This record gives sequence, structure tokens and C-alpha cells, in this order.
Amino acid sequence: MTAENRVALVTGAARGIGQVIAITLARPGLTVYINDVAHWDGAAQTKKGVEDQGGTAHILEFDVTDAAAVEQAVDRIVKESGRLDILVNNAGITRDNLIARLKEEDWDLVLAVNLKGAYNCIRAATRAMLKQRYGRIINISSVVGFMGNPGQANYAASKAGLIGLTKSVARELASRHITVNAVAPGFITTEMTEALPEKTKELMLAQIPLNRFGTPEEVAHAVAFLASEQAAYITGQVIHVNGGMLMA
Ligand code: NAD
Repeated sequence: MTAENRVALVTGAARGIGQVIAITLARPGLTVYINDVAHWDGAAQTKKGVEDQGGTAHILEFDVTDAAAVEQAVDRIVKESGRLDILVNNAGITRDNLIARLKEEDWDLVLAVNLKGAYNCIRAATRAMLKQRYGRIINISSVVGFMGNPGQANYAASKAGLIGLTKSVARELASRHITVNAVAPGFITTEMTEALPEKTKELMLAQIPLNRFGTPEEVAHAVAFLASEQAAYITGQVIHVNGGMLMA
């Protein structure tokens, strides 16, 4: 197995950060499975972006909260492509509200997608990775999981939870040459953050030493590094991509 022949799965890759991650990972010989539950025009754009970089791309619809669907999808990847080397748990949602008004269904949904979704995908992908004795798992956390944020108790809990998940699984899988790391973006310009009120955006900007929001590309490069052969000695770590907003 050479570095040229790898198979990757990126969840939530039809738009935003996931789309750019899929395209940034792409290179000749790499097959990228583009997962999402929506935004099919975007998924087609991701596919084209991967192919333009010389990679092979497949769109794979499944909901990360559905454990059986995740298992089936990973089985399909392994049947079709023979292996699964890189898993990027990027799918994520917000359902913001102040704690006194935060509905149980919004707590459950955010935890189900952001945290349990990652668990579902890691569990399924790990089987293939253990057989190969090789793997790269990258979980997309958030600066909010480290700092907290008013109105985002559910989201922050899910993103902090991903860090415990990352470190535990990193310890379990290290002996099989499977690395597990997290990338914690700060405020990145995407559809998810465009939806925030202007006042929230101004408050955020005031806390960023580099005095600008980040780009999906800047997150994607950190992910691509952790997914690379060169990152073999890095596991259980978090790369913060936040313009200095948090210096951990
Ligand atoms: P986005 O909303 O633009 O994209 C998320 C994608 O995930 C969407 O295409 C969506 O359809 C998909 N998705 C949602 N639920 C899914 C499910 N159940 N199964 C499969 N796919 C699902 O968001 P984004 O801003 O690109 O964020 C990507 C990741 O980065 C998220 O995990 C987010 O929490 C994290 N993040 C974003 C920022 C930011 O500033 N944008 C900051 C820190 C962390």
C-alpha cells in the first residue's frame, strides 16, 4: 500500500468545511466518499472538485445518527474500494438557545449528530482499519467545546465530548497504527455561521487576535496534515485553528 492509494470518508461533505476538506484531501489515487443527508447540488460540486484534483469521488447518502445505515455505508466502501483509510467526522449541526429555553429535543438532536454520529462512524470504520493496521481518524470539534458559548450548551457539550472520544480511541487504537486526532476550528465563514446574528459575529471578531474569521481552507489544511502519512507520530491531539481566539 503506497501513500497514493488511500480511501477516505468525509461526513457532511456537501457544503461548508466538509466540502473543502474532501477537495483538499483529493489527489490522484485517492478515493473520497462524500457523505451527507442534503444539499445534493453541493455534493455534486464536491465530487467535481475532487475529480478536478485527480481523485475519485462517490456520493454516499446516510444519516450519521443511524448506526445501521453507517454500518451499511462502510461495508459498501470496503466492498467497492477494498479498504477505508481516512475518516473525517465533520457532519455537525447547531440548535442554539439559552439553557432555560433549550428544548430536550434540541439537546438530543445536537448530541446525536455531533457526538453519537462520530461514535457510529468510528465504530464502523475501525473494523476495516484494524484489519489494515492503518488508519487516520479526524474529528471536527470547535473552539466552543473548550471555551463554552452562551446559547450553545448542547453544541459545546457535543464538541467537548468529541475531545474525550478522540483521546480514548487514540489510546485504544495506537498499537494498530491508527491515529485519532481532532481539529477545533474557531469562527469560520460558512453557511452555518452566516446564519448567526450580526451582533454575535461582532462580539466574536473582537475576541480574535488575527482580527478576521477563518476560511474552510484553513481548517481543511490542518485536517489534510493529520490525514497524511507525515502525521504518523501524532495521536490524541487537537489542532486549534482559531486565529488565536483560544491559546490552549
Ligand atoms: P454546514 O452546516 O455548512 O455543513 C454541515 C454539513 O453536515 C451539511 O452539509 C449538512 O447537511 C451535514 N449534516 C448535517 N447533519 C447530518 C447528518 N445527520 N448526517 C450526515 N450529514 C449531516 O456546517 P460547517 O460550518 O461547514 O461545519 C462543519 C463542521 O465544522 C461541523 O461539525 C461544525 O460543528 C464544525 N465547526 C464549524 C465552525 C464554523 O465556524 N463554521 C466552527 C467550529 C466547528
